[in-house]
Amino acid sequence: MSAPAQTPRAPLMSLDDALTALLVPVVPLAVVESVPTFEADRRVLAQDLVSALHVPPQDNSSMDGYAVRCTDVTAPGVVLPVSQRIAAGHAAEPLRPGTCARIFTGAPVPEGADAVVMQEDTQEVGGNIHGVHINAMPRPGQWVRRAGEDVTRGAVVLSRGQRLTPASLGLAASLGLAQLPVMARPRVALFSTGDELVMPGEVAPQDMPPGAIYNSNRFFLRALLQRMGCEVSDLGIVPDRREATVAALKTAADHHDLILTSGGVSVGEEDHIKPAVQQLGSLNLWQIAMKPGKPFAYGTVGRDAGAGALAAQPCHFIGLPGNPVSSFVTFLLLVRPFLLRLQGALPDVAAALPRPVQLPAHFDLPRADRRREFLRVRRNAAGGLDIFPNQSSGVLTSAVWGDGLVDNPAGSTIAHGDLVAYFSLAELLA
Ligand code: AMP
Ligand code: MG
Repeated sequence: MSAPAQTPRAPLMSLDDALTALLVPVVPLAVVESVPTFEADRRVLAQDLVSALHVPPQDNSSMDGYAVRCTDVTAPGVVLPVSQRIAAGHAAEPLRPGTCARIFTGAPVPEGADAVVMQEDTQEVGGNIHGVHINAMPRPGQWVRRAGEDVTRGAVVLSRGQRLTPASLGLAASLGLAQLPVMARPRVALFSTGDELVMPGEVAPQDMPPGAIYNSNRFFLRALLQRMGCEVSDLGIVPDRREATVAALKTAADHHDLILTSGGVSVGEEDHIKPAVQQLGSLNLWQIAMKPGKPFAYGTVGRDAGAGALAAQPCHFIGLPGNPVSSFVTFLLLVRPFLLRLQGALPDVAAALPRPVQLPAHFDLPRADRRREFLRVRRNAAGGLDIFPNQSSGVLTSAVWGDGLVDNPAGSTIAHGDLVAYFSLAELLA
């Protein structure tokens, strides 16, 4: 009897190729919403914002002091009568020649004045004479904030595709914008697969049946999706059965932009995700040469006529590995840029991963892996990186202990002191 012919294993796709295949075809969501500026933090701008005015709108003082004409200050100590008082929010009269104006921070600089002398460089003349000694010679333009020095009328201040931050909300408000045009939130259906999964709160730790574990992926995946600005429908746990998986995918496809699952996407008989996606649509990408995270899948699931206008396009599908660290890492490295693309916030696919920082390893990694590895590490006080001792893809403690990932190329060992590429988790979670 001859041995069955061995089919040679095709090499796995590299992470870079997978990112290109995943991200290049993504078309940003077409829906634009108008939201109050107060509620727009982290949303993605759908249009360029053009300023309809100068910011600041007029020249104003950046000090409490006296507005003067420089030519009137002939020598230090000269006395100028005070001809008006200008507080912030009040209009100014043109400055009478040979006089100065009492002025406060943010108040408009009167026509004719070309500088402000700060209060500390002046001295009031005694008695009731409204005059001051100007003790320092002003330079033209001194302590004056010029109209339009922050923003000029007609300038593009924030661009389409930019993710809004607290500072950009303030800037938009300074243009008078109470509402902002933003991209729709991606609607994501999330479900976990696995008959071993139990929800915290439903079974107490001492009552856990044999083989059961708590569903941890559901918690961090939901939080990660929310941080990315998604509207999440959490569809709970789907049992490890083909029909149940097909039914869940089918229902979710009609009303969502993306279906995100965890688990069930490996090669075992209990892994039903892959055949279910193939039955309902197509599986375009499966397995990546990375560690953790090999069993990553991308595909599409067809929609029913009931999905209305959406029916013409299939729903995106991403299957994450079940192991918690694999799920977490593949979310950060693949799902995050995918969601940015869907919101029009990642025009350059080459920028899918953050720019790494080169830092010295304060550890050894004597055994090279065939796959590109993402090691959970932490910056130490000496400016180097410590590694979490257990790099197993099931050990979620490593992702809490670590503040970053070392991107270690396939086939590479690391010796203490080597410079390695470090991605900060804070950047990947921003
Ligand atoms: P799978 O990809 O379904 O074969 O799962 C791989 C490993 O991850 C198994 O040990 C599962 O028990 C575990 N796992 C799968 N889903 C979850 C989950 N939602 N939370 C915690 N562990 C999980
Ligand atoms: Mg499973």
